[in-house]
Amino acid sequence: MDDQAKALISGVIASLDCSRDLLRTVLVEDYIPYEDIIASLPTNGSPDQKYMVARKWTRWPTMGPERRTGITIHHTCSHSPLGTARYCSLPVRAGGKGYPSIQYHFWVSAADNCPIFLCAPVEWGIWHDNTGAYQETIAVGMAGQLHLSRPPDEQIGTAVRLIVWLMQEYDIPLENVRGHRDRWRNRSGQPLTKCPGWDHTSWRNDFFNLLNTGVIG
Ligand SMILES: [Zn+2]
Repeated sequence: MDDQAKALISGVIASLDCSRDLLRTVLVEDYIPYEDIIASLPTNGSPDQKYMVARKWTRWPTMGPERRTGITIHHTCSHSPLGTARYCSLPVRAGGKGYPSIQYHFWVSAADNCPIFLCAPVEWGIWHDNTGAYQETIAVGMAGQLHLSRPPDEQIGTAVRLIVWLMQEYDIPLENVRGHRDRWRNRSGQPLTKCPGWDHTSWRNDFFNLLNTGVIG
């Protein structure tokens, strides 16, 4: 992160007060509609996804906040956390992905007021790039097929507010906030996915400009 970006981000956080509790209140629990829906989503105690089976894992590894080094932005291709959780946790042999749970920690809805849903404990080291790589990043899923249509401004703004809060809460630098397609590439350097779609519907710059300048109100 360059010095200018650092100064801007620290300015945002300072202007919001440096208390984490206050930030949580202002950014997530009060100002942003926020709901923990973990208990309402299905999980699978016998995941049969091939990398899980190879490691003999029946659940995600867990990790403390000190291991959280980044945030990865995804698009969910869906508007239903429940539907996505069902598909992710359904066994491969039944046509699902065979994971222990949904693959996003946070879900930013595109519905009215763009509520945020906590879908999985942040302690869970969810695989969310489909490569089976060890994951130290927090997965933020933005609802929709965002490679086909640009997210509403309000959804971008809500995602940015959430990310500013996560950066503060987990001490994550701006340079480690990346899109799925930017984080993992094949041997030729090509992205493995269109996710989160921002290069296809031209909202990458808007997203990072908002994050950089802290225009979050
Ligand atoms: Zn993704």
